[in-house]
Amino acid sequence: MTGVEPASDAVLAVLGVGVVDPSTPVIRADDAGVTRGDGCFEGLRVVDGAVDKLDAHLARMARSCAALELPFDPDSWRALVAEALAAWPHPGEAALKLVLTRGTVGYAWLTPLAADYPRLRRDGLRIITLSRGTTIDAFADAPWLLGGVKTLSYAVNMAATREAARRGADDVLFVSADGFVLEAPTGTAVWAVGRTLRTTPLGASGILGGTTQQRLFDRATDAGWRVEEATARVDDLHEADVLWVVSSVRGPIDVIELDGKQRARRPELDAQIRRLAGF
Ligand code: PLP
Repeated sequence: MTGVEPASDAVLAVLGVGVVDPSTPVIRADDAGVTRGDGCFEGLRVVDGAVDKLDAHLARMARSCAALELPFDPDSWRALVAEALAAWPHPGEAALKLVLTRGTVGYAWLTPLAADYPRLRRDGLRIITLSRGTTIDAFADAPWLLGGVKTLSYAVNMAATREAARRGADDVLFVSADGFVLEAPTGTAVWAVGRTLRTTPLGASGILGGTTQQRLFDRATDAGWRVEEATARVDDLHEADVLWVVSSVRGPIDVIELDGKQRARRPELDAQIRRLAGF
């Protein structure tokens, strides 16, 4: 085989098997998880050997599995995560992926934090908007479209991210065909207007319900913020005080440039939001 780097600094734990050498092949060639992207996954943050908001991720994975009609036993996934963590020798931050395919291969894959995250957290994000091609209510009454399900079919999201890189940006904000803000390829859009935090409504929009945004909104309410789900156009985001892309491993990162327009940074506000999100 060519082009396959040995997995050196990683832990691999396979459902029903346990921890194995990280270069062990675990998926069959005919697994629809790889031939069709049919399956689901979760991406979780590990800090000093503990997983952040494991319950919220397992609850979302249970919903993904229900939508995909895949079996899901939270206790065996919890045990798998514990096994993977026990084999991880490093302090500090790491990234954990939980993957379940249609061939019902399940595994936990634990690796170091992506090399560019510290820089992005420090410097903020330059993002561009790209159309997702569907209207803001395209997923209403159409469960087969798998809106809000964290499926393995992320090729479109990754293609959009490469398009951003080609245009000299760090990330993307998807917008609907009728001009409403959706989400980033791997994160939720959150914006502050005065003392109100807003995000795009779930459901008909088809966006994924973010565990980081949910935690942030829960804690922000206790800290005196108003929080709401509200549709918005890109112009509304230009007007917002701060715009963040938030996700589990990267955390909330403030947007410093949106479609080529510079945005003023608000370090104190940003620090508060990061703290509320657990960063
Ligand atoms: N939206 C999409 C499409 C995602 O892939 C992700 C995370 O992977 C998120 C939002 C943010 O979710 P979370 O905060 O649970 O990481």
